[in-house]
Amino acid sequence: MIKSGIKGTIAFGVIVILFITILPCFEPSFFSKLIKDNAWMMLGILTIFFAIALIVIVASNRRLKAVLYIDSSTGKASLAKFKIDARALLDTAKPEEYMLVSIDVNNFKYINDIYGYDAGNEVLKVLAGHIELILPDEVMLTARRSADNFVFISKTSNKEKIFESLSDDRPLKKDVQDILGPDYNLTLSTGVYVIQQPLKGISVMLDYANIAKKTIKGRVGNPIAEYTTEMDKHMELKKKITVGMEAGLQHGEFITCMQPKFSLQDEVLIGAEVLVRWKHPDMGMLSPLLFISLFEENGFIEKLDMYIFEATCKMMQKWEKSRVVRIPRISVNISRVTLGKDNLVKELKEITEKYQVETNCLEIEITEGTLERGTERIIHIINELKSVGFYVSIDDFGSGYSSLSILKDMPADIIKIDKEFLSETFDSQKGKKIINSIIRMSKELNLETVAEGIETKEQAETLKNMGCDVAQGFYFARPMKPEDFEDILIKGI
Ligand code: C2E
Ligand code: CA
Ligand code: CA
Repeated sequence: MIKSGIKGTIAFGVIVILFITILPCFEPSFFSKLIKDNAWMMLGILTIFFAIALIVIVASNRRLKAVLYIDSSTGKASLAKFKIDARALLDTAKPEEYMLVSIDVNNFKYINDIYGYDAGNEVLKVLAGHIELILPDEVMLTARRSADNFVFISKTSNKEKIFESLSDDRPLKKDVQDILGPDYNLTLSTGVYVIQQPLKGISVMLDYANIAKKTIKGRVGNPIAEYTTEMDKHMELKKKITVGMEAGLQHGEFITCMQPKFSLQDEVLIGAEVLVRWKHPDMGMLSPLLFISLFEENGFIEKLDMYIFEATCKMMQKWEKSRVVRIPRISVNISRVTLGKDNLVKELKEITEKYQVETNCLEIEITEGTLERGTERIIHIINELKSVGFYVSIDDFGSGYSSLSILKDMPADIIKIDKEFLSETFDSQKGKKIINSIIRMSKELNLETVAEGIETKEQAETLKNMGCDVAQGFYFARPMKPEDFEDILIKGI
């Protein structure tokens, strides 16, 4: 509509310009006569022209605002509008008068993948409606920040009631079940920043609420976390990690360590997993748990995974030339992000050729979470990896939502059972049952089973009796320096 309006105005303008251009071709008396005779009409035409131009400008402005200020999926305010309104509200606010709340739908990806985008959008609309119903007098501003992330600002005076309302998920669950079916239990994660400094940037406040939200990942129910200055340290760490990663890679600060794996039936060393560590110049030795997910977010993991893979091949080439008699199978972790890299398999193969390492001495560990995204594509990559000779294992199996039935479609060779099933916090009977069924199913499908995180003799015995093939855990060996692992390869354990 706006486009055609603009076109019409331009056409009219062109006609007026043409008119003015051809006027001098006529006699001056003709010109003055024409003006004299048609003065009112010409004034009218000019007025109409300016009126149309004004309408077009106002309409485009409105349309632009609608695009910028309204979220198309939910029909509610956009983040841009939220930021403007929040600034105006907080400019005159007292410390701790308001709080900023950030809400995520847990496993939203799953809804999109399994039920489709339309169903996903319906769920978002329902959630947006519910947020507005939480104490309507208290919730001042709401907006959708990104895919499944909603934010709102409310007064703190009724904080407890708002929290109660957020935790009571029954009405929301019911509405979502009307869309996704009775088996779907929607849960939310909520982070809250009580606004101590109302003049701080809105983006910083959003970061605080999100930092709080991230601390509750994995907790059951509808957990809510409030931002504390302690969490600031986490943000500081995140910054330091991001700033130092490129230089760290160039300066060789990322180093590898190896955790041996043993055959459970006869406790013979059968291989090892390569695990990365960051020898940070200021912060000392950092665990991958501190930086892997961040690198997955910012994409740096691609470089790191390729670097660790190359370092592994280099190390294996060295063994080939030293006194190591038999090179065992070495596994390397490849993140779900790296798995999406173009020509990944070709590049991995080229690296093995560069260091003359046999691909069948290497195992690629991909986490179960990877399977959530486009099963067909993952099956294709696994097949590609296998076609050039790599072994492929599904790491942390059981930690995500993929069911046992997914195993039969996965062309992987090995299943690594998630160590959570062995942890003390996990109900031991339930854990055992799950491990048992994973092992049974894997056997039927000719998959090798590896149990990770074995810390006690009792756990080792139980797993052995269940028929698990391989063990990895502190009870057998902790992650160690590559030189120490090489020593074991030469002298035995
Ligand atoms: P993961 O692949 O599940 O690796 C096993 C983790 O379990 C290692 O932690 C290991 O030290 C720990 N572990 C082994 N045995 C035991 C045990 O008996 N008890 C307990 N409590 N833990 C045990 P780490 O080295 O901190 O690695 C954490 C995660 O970081 C890894 O989990 C893996 O997902 C990721 N990671 C490590 N290196 C790389 C890498 O080069 N690339 C990628 N993409 N991810 C990596
Ligand atoms: Ca692993
Ligand atoms: Ca694992």
